[in-house]
Amino acid sequence: MNIILLGPPGAGKGTQARILVEERGMVQLSTGDMLRAAKDSGTEMGDIVADVMARGALVTDEIVIGLIREQLNTVKASGFIFDGFPRTLAQADALTNLLAAEGENLDAVVEMEVDDEALVARITARSTCGNCGEVYNDTTKPQPADGKCSNCGASDFRRRADDNEESLRTRLMEYYKKTAPLIGYYYAKDMLTKIDGLGEISQVKAAIDKALS
Ligand code: AMP
Repeated sequence: MNIILLGPPGAGKGTQARILVEERGMVQLSTGDMLRAAKDSGTEMGDIVADVMARGALVTDEIVIGLIREQLNTVKASGFIFDGFPRTLAQADALTNLLAAEGENLDAVVEMEVDDEALVARITARSTCGNCGEVYNDTTKPQPADGKCSNCGASDFRRRADDNEESLRTRLMEYYKKTAPLIGYYYAKDMLTKIDGLGEISQVKAAIDKALS
């Protein structure tokens, strides 16, 4: 099964994708994670995207489609979770074609609905484990008191450079201008299921399970 988790920054796509990976053995393809890895390792592409990402703008379709193409060409999986991709109509069309070239289909698009106030609160409270990617929230899921990640034991907590209010406003604007049209696009293709992304992690997970069943 190949699915897209669609929603604004802070909707919980990454958190839910990690659960699906663990429980269903699917493979998460997060273009945000791929771009951050390129940036951290100082590749030429990483240098090009660093400033765009810090501002909260979208990197070019060409770059992200190239990243996804590379993954689909090389990784074999029982199912892919697209997290943070597609973000534009051009990316959505490209994904259809890339999957078709591999003899695959898109099975479902799950839209995670969260109100904007909650997004700002979530993102400004967010940190992650630099080693395994476990996501923490200062209020709802604080970093363990012993300073060690509850998932992997590492002590390398990080806050994303673009998780500040100014970048977030740009990311939200990019979402509403360029990504939100995908809701109508996938509705028209009869692939869209909306779920409430505001609840506890376990409640959202249950809603996703229901949407995929
Ligand atoms: P994310 O981790 O999904 O929130 O992505 C972080 C940043 O990476 C975004 O604000 C964009 O600058 C960039 N990015 C990630 N995925 C895409 C995409 N599909 N298209 C364009 N830019 C992207």
